[in-house]
Amino acid sequence: MDATEPLLVDLLVTGAELVATVDDERRELRGGWVAIDEGLVHSLGDGTTPPPATRRVLRADGCLVTPGLINTHHHIYQNLTRSFRPAVNGTLFQWLTTLYPRWALLDEEAAYVSAWVGLAELALGGCTTSTDHLYVHPRDGGDLITAEIRAAQELGFRFHPTRGSMSRSQKDGGLPPDSVVQDHDEILADSERLVALHHDPSWGAMVRVALAPCSPFSVTPELMRDTAELAERLDVRLHTHLAEDPDEDTYSEEVYGCRTIEHFEHVGWGSDRSWVAHCIYPNDDEILRLGKWGTGVAHCPSSNMMIGGGGLAPVHEFRAAGVPVGIGCDGSASTDSASLWMEARNALLLGRMRKGPQSMGARDALEIATRGSAGCLGREGELGVLAPGAAGDLVCWPLEGVAFAGALSDPVEAWLRCGPVAARHTVVRGRLLVEDGALTVGGVDEMLARHRAISARIQGA
Ligand SMILES: [Zn+2]
Repeated sequence: MDATEPLLVDLLVTGAELVATVDDERRELRGGWVAIDEGLVHSLGDGTTPPPATRRVLRADGCLVTPGLINTHHHIYQNLTRSFRPAVNGTLFQWLTTLYPRWALLDEEAAYVSAWVGLAELALGGCTTSTDHLYVHPRDGGDLITAEIRAAQELGFRFHPTRGSMSRSQKDGGLPPDSVVQDHDEILADSERLVALHHDPSWGAMVRVALAPCSPFSVTPELMRDTAELAERLDVRLHTHLAEDPDEDTYSEEVYGCRTIEHFEHVGWGSDRSWVAHCIYPNDDEILRLGKWGTGVAHCPSSNMMIGGGGLAPVHEFRAAGVPVGIGCDGSASTDSASLWMEARNALLLGRMRKGPQSMGARDALEIATRGSAGCLGREGELGVLAPGAAGDLVCWPLEGVAFAGALSDPVEAWLRCGPVAARHTVVRGRLLVEDGALTVGGVDEMLARHRAISARIQGA
């Protein structure tokens, strides 16, 4: 033992049926354990290796242990307008134009409470890191991103908010109303302020900020270009929606005279600093170009199905082309539910539906939801993997009860084929956020009452 070795580690998760490390060798440890110290994985082993002495033991009997799942696309504030009746059967563009005026009523209290509830929901579903794309910043709405970050910090959740923006309103040929768009310079100045205030580039960081103009049909090309330059200067990541709907290519042809992914390239976004949401409609050449650039894709399977129209992201082709593919639940008013287990399962089902049973197994879906997502966020090797030195984020999934009866031979396949399942324990930075299926932080009922009141105000109920 060298002088820097701790006498006692902070936490030992032990007795697991299987630990799926998703490390470089894809090791799977029967009867495994994971030791976490000072927020990072200290060591791990199987049932034959003795673990280090520990301050605290967390039992994982009957559980599959995986790295915490990572959500690469979300709009948490939309949980204030979940399954909103006037919008549920619209096309994407109709759905957006119905909801923009509702979202124009957002304020700091709404951002804080919706984030608290939304991140709690994600933690219960086995997510340990989430992005959020908040692109509605109403005049006099206050500092919504800082309000969300406060909720994440109170919960102890690893958070990647993105500073969303819209600068092209209806009067300029865009989709959103004037009340929710902002001026070009105001957006860039606020982006820079938020990065200075909250972005932590260090290893194991709990908060990182990315810049995220909403979509090609709600911002100007100048804002896309200047945002990319600002991200380069500040060394932060870039996020946007891309190729989510066939209407987007029609819009792009009419307004920019090219396909939407060509427009994306023209404004300087084709790079490994960017990851994009959905990307359902690239052509073969565009898939190869995304791979060459190293631009990541947040695959949102439930959202693909909910939007309808038959388009499904070509995940198999993306991965073959070297595109980093992560998982995303998308906003709470388009998918309405935010379980990353369900997104991983839906990625499995859609993958097999598109390309057959050989093309996608539970291990592929797990890899997308962990390592792939970490790649989208520029945190490969740090998040989404259980290996010494990586972040101490993991989930214990119970593979027990009637839903798992008879599933004896492969705990990883059983995890996604059986179920539904939620987290028994969710650990972030070595600290329990969910224990025995319940949040360790108090105040849920009070927060839900506040959420209900805000939702009623925003929905005009
Ligand atoms: Zn989205």
